[in-house]
Amino acid sequence: MQVPSHVEYEKAKSVEHALELLTRFGPEARVLAGGHSLIPMMKLRLAQPETLIDINGISGLSRITVADGELRIGALVRHGQLLASAVAAGHFPVLRDAEQVIADPIVRNWGTIGGSLCQADPSEDLSAAFGALRAIAVIQGRDGSRRVPVREFHLGPYETVVAPAELLTELRVPIAGDGSGSAYEKVSRRVGDWSIAAAGAVLTLSSDGTVTEAGIGLAAVGAGHFVSTAAEDFLRGQPATDAVFGQAGQVAAEHCQPAADQRGPVDYKRHLTGELTTRALRRAAIRVRARAGGQTV
Ligand SMILES: Cc1cc2nc3c(=O)[nH]c(=O)nc-3n(C[C@H](O)[C@H](O)[C@H](O)COP(=O)(O)OP(=O)(O)OC[C@H]3O[C@@H](n4cnc5c(N)ncnc54)[C@H](O)[C@@H]3O)c2cc1C
Repeated sequence: MQVPSHVEYEKAKSVEHALELLTRFGPEARVLAGGHSLIPMMKLRLAQPETLIDINGISGLSRITVADGELRIGALVRHGQLLASAVAAGHFPVLRDAEQVIADPIVRNWGTIGGSLCQADPSEDLSAAFGALRAIAVIQGRDGSRRVPVREFHLGPYETVVAPAELLTELRVPIAGDGSGSAYEKVSRRVGDWSIAAAGAVLTLSSDGTVTEAGIGLAAVGAGHFVSTAAEDFLRGQPATDAVFGQAGQVAAEHCQPAADQRGPVDYKRHLTGELTTRALRRAAIRVRARAGGQTV
């Protein structure tokens, strides 16, 4: 059995305490949230932190709230909590769609939103969903906090802009008006597995059915910053029709950079990218129209 190497353990009582501990123990310290990614990496010795700073006792980071026109999701919110949140799904169904297909109940019960984004796995579903939503990450350091667009949060696989002595504390999503809708579509080899490919779509339509803004998030297919700006540019100003959504899917498929692996060859992943983008756009548009009619779908 694989076991981690020796590690010291500290439990943070507050954000300030966590930042103090991170500063005191230096770059070899790592934040421990749900541990579903970090602990397996430690067992494989892919990560060998000298100290773990456990943030699970910081209750202020576990809330989902609406304030100042934003949905605010604390970094310690568990996947299961986001999945069950009526307020999050009411504003942004893409989040519930994505959570329904992330891992299994055991991982969802303890894995956190902050841990997911900070792990920066290229197949991470929430990075694509929050990218499509143009969410803002709030990062706290000892000298104050900064707001970073999720589209600038990831520097590459397993690398983010969060510095060693900083903490991701919150994700914020500006609440959109009635003309908007969103959806997430994913294909994996079996239930609970990582994506072969996945796509999130966020649409804003004018009253005559023209796309005024679009967000396209992609997971597992090598899309820069988990989004397809080419498909978004294509959609803006177009009529929200199935034909246009099909073309946008093709644009997304052409502009991503999937790698062949045990989940499938490049051509198959590109094909899935096109199809899933098209389906997510269709479902997002259906939701916009249902919302205008006072329904939820
Ligand atoms: C079996 C299995 C299946 C999975 N399937 C999927 C899937 O289908 N789709 C998907 O998207 N994900 C999937 N995951 C990933 C899962 O969502 C992540 O393991 C989990 O969400 C990471 O969050 P965590 O709280 O466990 O993070 P941890 O493992 O505790 O931390 C991960 C990393 O983030 C850092 N970190 C954590 N929180 C913060 C913070 N607030 N500020 C700064 N740094 C922080 C840690 O130091 C560490 O480097 C799966 C995981 C498992 C084990």
